[in-house]
Amino acid sequence: PVLERVLIRDVFRSIRTLVASTAHRNGITVNLSGDSTLEIRIDPAHLKQILLNLSLNAIQAMPEGGLLTLQAFREQDQATIIVSDTGIGLDEYTKARILRPFFTTKTEGTGLGLSITSQLVETNQGSMTIESEKDVGTTFILSFPLGGSKD
Ligand code: ADP
Ligand code: MG
Repeated sequence: PVLERVLIRDVFRSIRTLVASTAHRNGITVNLSGDSTLEIRIDPAHLKQILLNLSLNAIQAMPEGGLLTLQAFREQDQATIIVSDTGIGLDEYTKARILRPFFTTKTEGTGLGLSITSQLVETNQGSMTIESEKDVGTTFILSFPLGGSKD
């Protein structure tokens, strides 16, 4: 990874631009919130790929519309980024498998998005946890070093 100081707000806005028409077509509101001045240390191309993968999954989990939220805030020496949807959620069986390469529940899914995403999170010194409730929604919680830190 090419680690740089990245303003999260800029990346959030570019993700919103990328998903805007698909979201609109599916009755989904995209909400950006949190600390808009937050900077993290990450490869900017990787962060975009991570957030795009999670956002597209979120949109696909809301066939009847809903809310996609991207939120960022500081916690101690880390930045937390949340990608949350009000979609179909995950049952325990699915949740245990979603990070595996080629695992998909979609007729035309590759099952590679989350496996690549979790690898990108790791190589950028981040962490990712998942909270989900069936028929309520899913939240991916990411944590990365703040922009000011050395490594
Ligand atoms: P794909 O999108 O090609 O199926 P992914 O690796 O991106 O592959 O996701 C794997 C599986 O995880 C999906 O098929 C789906 O079952 C589940 N999943 C991922 N994100 C969500 C989400 N936000 N809500 C519900 N299920 C999800
Ligand atoms: Mg996917």
